[in-house]
Amino acid sequence: MLMTARTHDLAAITALGALLIVYPVGDIKLATVLVAFLANQFGGIAPDIDQPTAPLWRNLPIGRLFGKFVGKGLGGHRFITHSVIGLFLAALLMKALLLFIHPLMPNVDINLVWWAFMIGMASHLIMDSLTKEGVPWLLPLPFKFGFPPIRAFRITTGKSGEKMLFLTILAIDIWYIAANYTHLVTVAKQIIARS
Ligand SMILES: [Zn+2]
Repeated sequence: MLMTARTHDLAAITALGALLIVYPVGDIKLATVLVAFLANQFGGIAPDIDQPTAPLWRNLPIGRLFGKFVGKGLGGHRFITHSVIGLFLAALLMKALLLFIHPLMPNVDINLVWWAFMIGMASHLIMDSLTKEGVPWLLPLPFKFGFPPIRAFRITTGKSGEKMLFLTILAIDIWYIAANYTHLVTVAKQIIARS
């Protein structure tokens, strides 16, 4: 059972927002913001490419069939893409990809885009760790870890526990936007003026 893409997307953008509190955005341009946002959302659902029912595959015409093959290749449900090694490999791949396409979008700060992707991906593993199934963080060690460590206290994906979690994160986001509204508007105006 998968945690929904909706929950992962929200968690990814929330994690990115939390980073922006401590990371000085400097002189970033609108193009960077947009590409970073896309990379962040992609990172938020990317680990589920190892699952044939993932939203990524479901939304493509021949996705279901293709997803089954990819799922088998990556070891099936919550495997390599849900581990530290997977994070590390994704980090290298994403770096290479961004360096390759940077000439096509020279105005984009690819370092920030890379961070946005990695934060999205890490948030995915953290969110999955809150579920009963847990996450094999230390592959190839065959153990799944979760938080809280006692399985009964974790949430069941797709059930009311996940909805509660979604609403809690949403509430935090609304509070965050309300509490920093003036600042956020100022930053947004600066970014637009600069672009
Ligand atoms: Zn997952």
